[in-house]
Amino acid sequence: MALTVQRPLGTADVTPSEIHKWYTVEQTAQRTAQVFGFREIRFPTFENTDLFLRSVGETTDVVQKEMYSVIAKESKFTLRPEGTAGTIRAVMQNGMLNDALPQKVFYITSCFRHEKPQAGRLREFHQFGAEMIGSKSPSADAEMISMAHTLLNELGLKNIELNINSIGCPKCRAEYHKALRAFFEDRKSELCGTCLGRLEKNPMRILDCKSPICSGIAKDAPVITDFLCEECSDHFTQLKELLDLMKISYKVNPKIVRGLDYYTKTVFEFITTDIGAQGTVLAGGRYDGLVSQLGGADTPALGFAAGLERLVMTMEKQGCSFMEPDKCDLYIVPMGDAAMKKSAELAALARAEGYITEYDLMNRSLKAQMKYANKIGAAFVVVIGDNELEAGTAKLKNMETGDEKDIVLDSTFGEKFSEEAISAMFETEEANSIFNI
Ligand code: ATP
Ligand code: MG
Repeated sequence: MALTVQRPLGTADVTPSEIHKWYTVEQTAQRTAQVFGFREIRFPTFENTDLFLRSVGETTDVVQKEMYSVIAKESKFTLRPEGTAGTIRAVMQNGMLNDALPQKVFYITSCFRHEKPQAGRLREFHQFGAEMIGSKSPSADAEMISMAHTLLNELGLKNIELNINSIGCPKCRAEYHKALRAFFEDRKSELCGTCLGRLEKNPMRILDCKSPICSGIAKDAPVITDFLCEECSDHFTQLKELLDLMKISYKVNPKIVRGLDYYTKTVFEFITTDIGAQGTVLAGGRYDGLVSQLGGADTPALGFAAGLERLVMTMEKQGCSFMEPDKCDLYIVPMGDAAMKKSAELAALARAEGYITEYDLMNRSLKAQMKYANKIGAAFVVVIGDNELEAGTAKLKNMETGDEKDIVLDSTFGEKFSEEAISAMFETEEANSIFNI
């Protein structure tokens, strides 16, 4: 095939034969969020670039290297690289912080980052994210982690390790930054150009650098947990106690700093080793400063986001079960012109009852139509010949057993496929189990 234009690097198509995997993840995520009392929020695909500069942070990889920005009619816009900034902007702009708190919202959406494409790392990817705004209590942190944990369990995922850390607040970070600067100053000549710039502005960002040399040096750097103020340290202790009570196992990993500047106190990642190097399937944390940074009153908040591609990949790798793809319930096989017209009418009756119904649109022979019905996995086939049509009847074939019955073609056509009607017609309790719906 000589397709003249291919899809852009780092993007993916999802074909109908794979879509049930996505439905499984999306519907499970939606359901999990709803049972935790979260409601869906939608926000634009692009925002004013400033939103991400102010929230994600100017010294992050996302802002320095990965944003898709355009200048359109003198305004600068950016395709969303993540969902938290847009969510918080939308929550604030729609006055939701004046309502009873906490506000609890979720989204399932595409994100765009100009990264080096590889397995589990795309330029357009998808996130399920959830944000809770208004609670400073460690119980809110435990609730978010519990929701993430529930989702991964509901998807049937195993061997996913929860790593948690506290990266403190601006108060504890002042001391920590000093210690980091002193540490990296000694090895300044080895740092990459980007990190050299970060040394002055935001030395914690060096800990998140993907360059092997910088991350090698960072291994021995001082850890934030040794610098936490009393409030942050208490918060972290209480969270750990709550997780123990909830029987959610975790590992304290002082190396986790997260790639976005807005995080404070708790950060966490759920990591698998089953899909190679890009093993963080879900990540999040607290961002108590973000609302005020964006011009609102001081309001604590926290959230997480899961990469849908990485969830699907891990489920495939672990052999988790996906929802069954939809299959045809009823295929109508018309033989002749009059029967063809009747097919459309009968299909409408069956569809009105909710059955997935199709009929021949290719003028195929009986044999070819039966073969096609088989291929699409039709549970039942109705064969209508011109003679039978005159008599007002047709042959109904149970494709699983091969049994055939004569049926009357009347306005009750759709009802003939109900559980009871099918069981009675084929005189078996199980007849219905072959129904696809
Ligand atoms: P990483 O360290 O893997 O680059 P990140 O810290 O940039 O991740 P977040 O911004 O916290 O990731 O995004 C949350 C989740 O979104 C990640 O844990 C991951 O599952 C997913 N994700 C992030 N970037 C990509 C990408 N380029 N392609 C696919 N999934 C991604
Ligand atoms: Mg990244």
